[in-house]
Amino acid sequence: MSTALIQKERKPNVRLRLGTDKFKTKEDYDMEFERRVLKIINSGEGFSTRGIADHPSIMKNFSLVHGVIKRLEQEGKLKRSETGRVEKTPEQKVEQEFKKLEYDAWIQTYPEVKRWIEYKSTTVEDVNSKLSRPLHTICNLLGLTPDQILKVARGYTSFEDGHEVHRGGITGRDSLDELMGKFAYEFKKQVNPKIRDGGLRSYRAAVIDYVKHSGIFIPERLGGNLSRAKTNYGKYSNTRLSDVQRDAVVRYAFAHFDAEIASAIAVGLEVVSPMSFTFRSIRVEQIEFKSRFGFTTAEFTVHESKTNEDFPKLAFDPRVVGILREIVQRKKTGYLFGTNGQPLDEGELSDALRECYRSIGIDVETEPENGLINYWKDKPIHSMRHSTAHLWSRRTGFNASIVAVMGWKTTDMVTQVYARLSLDYLFGQGRCDNCKPEQAIPTPDIASAENSNLITQSDHLFCSLKCACEFLNRKYAGTSFLSPKVEEAIPA
Ligand SMILES: [Zn+2]
Repeated sequence: MSTALIQKERKPNVRLRLGTDKFKTKEDYDMEFERRVLKIINSGEGFSTRGIADHPSIMKNFSLVHGVIKRLEQEGKLKRSETGRVEKTPEQKVEQEFKKLEYDAWIQTYPEVKRWIEYKSTTVEDVNSKLSRPLHTICNLLGLTPDQILKVARGYTSFEDGHEVHRGGITGRDSLDELMGKFAYEFKKQVNPKIRDGGLRSYRAAVIDYVKHSGIFIPERLGGNLSRAKTNYGKYSNTRLSDVQRDAVVRYAFAHFDAEIASAIAVGLEVVSPMSFTFRSIRVEQIEFKSRFGFTTAEFTVHESKTNEDFPKLAFDPRVVGILREIVQRKKTGYLFGTNGQPLDEGELSDALRECYRSIGIDVETEPENGLINYWKDKPIHSMRHSTAHLWSRRTGFNASIVAVMGWKTTDMVTQVYARLSLDYLFGQGRCDNCKPEQAIPTPDIASAENSNLITQSDHLFCSLKCACEFLNRKYAGTSFLSPKVEEAIPA
């Protein structure tokens, strides 16, 4: 090891040679030496004296390069800022100067951003809103070009009190981490003072992806201002509707909204709802009616872009199967929900859902004090996914593996994020309302969303999919969500 170091120090210093080029006169050589050193410094690649010395276009020893940098400084070709940093030469500075640009102009101005977006668009859906627009916001709020962000992430050398100091990088002083801390501050100040930490995750993800794409290594699981951890991971696993609440929501939807919206709500609360994006794009042609355990079920497969996986979806409740059959017969083709060749409007569905939730006494106004969001209010569509996780947990004897098949990559996601089961809930284990029916004492739980982790007697539990299918078909045979009179009275 020591031999290698010594060899490095004794790099042959061939006179009048830079890299592989030879020069005839000392003047030519000196001029070219300065030009090449400046070029490397101005490349924005980040530099150190050692790095310049070892650069293929230089290949000189450390002290010679150090001498050239000093000379450039003395000649005023390199400047130090008040903090002692080496600054770019004036012409370079103009080229890289930050300009506040509208999104389209910004994309056109920075071809490296354009290339990044083109590359990502093959794997990421909605790449503009997920990646390039957040990066654009970051650049504008911080007054930086995309290049300058890369420079910070890559790290650079500055001169302070005559010493080289390494700056930037991913974490530490003047790093990307600090930069994103500054961004969070500016975002709160200029854009949205109420933004929570979780709301900045998409910006962090965008900047990290951009930096990674340029070949800079970023460790996984960073904390601080680069944390992509879901700080509220698992905090909303109690979000669910009881069976009684679910029926009341669907009936309210059919009574107050058009059939497209109401059907979407009925189906969204029966099948394990896909992520909102794909929910809208389910097509009539995808629906298959199958015979399971002697009953008709509706089934379809949904490709979820977020995980890039296919998940089979099941509808057992004959009232929902009936709705699907009616839509398939009527529409024959096109989007399952939505009219005139347009998928259902997500905003409209969200508004309708909030009103449905409100109708059964769920608070869709208040912002919680504990730093969490009001999930029913802020994520009404995604709430359905939580509800169905609980629904199918109860329909499968709390079998997370079976539930996961219908919409999650791992069982951990089901048990930790969507349908975490409390101890009280677990005491329902072994109960089956189909094959081992108990004397059920119906508990009105219409407005008990805050206690939703408690299983109620009126929440149906089954030991298996077979029992769930049999029971639901028996109980709701010949009934529909449109004709409540046929069914049992809903507790007021
Ligand atoms: Zn059973």
